[in-house]
Amino acid sequence: MSNITFTMIKPDAVADGHIGAILGKIAEGGFKIKALKLTQLTVADAKKFYEVHAERPFYGELVEFMSSGPIVAAVLEKDNAVEDFRTLIGATNPAEAAEGTIRKMFARSIGENAVHGSDSDENALIEAQFHFSGREIF
Ligand code: UDP
Repeated sequence: MSNITFTMIKPDAVADGHIGAILGKIAEGGFKIKALKLTQLTVADAKKFYEVHAERPFYGELVEFMSSGPIVAAVLEKDNAVEDFRTLIGATNPAEAAEGTIRKMFARSIGENAVHGSDSDENALIEAQFHFSGREIF
């Protein structure tokens, strides 16, 4: 499965009512939806998903936030999906994100930053399989 990326609309953006607007930006950006669901991470799920950040000072807060409410998980397809999606979402810190990016438009803060985007093809596949069974990816 190449040319795919994995995204989550994080609990802040779901709570703030931005699911529709963010899915609209994703469609306008030329991404095709291959899998999609509203779900909620358990604390254990969030710990595992963000395992690479376990030693970072913000890990506890991140796990608590990501398991605090519903999220939208999705697998997206486009040529150069990982890089193009990271361009569409903007910098981790919305204060530094470019105008028109999803994080600039919808994020609350560096931690509660509206969306996740995979950082490599390898992680996109791992993350997609973490959230979806084979039957749920089209
Ligand atoms: N994060 C945070 N504080 C920081 C840096 C990151 O709370 O100082 C959170 C934020 O939600 C971010 C996630 O940890 O999206 C993963 O961090 P990463 O550096 O991988 O940023 P991303 O790839 O999401 O832009």
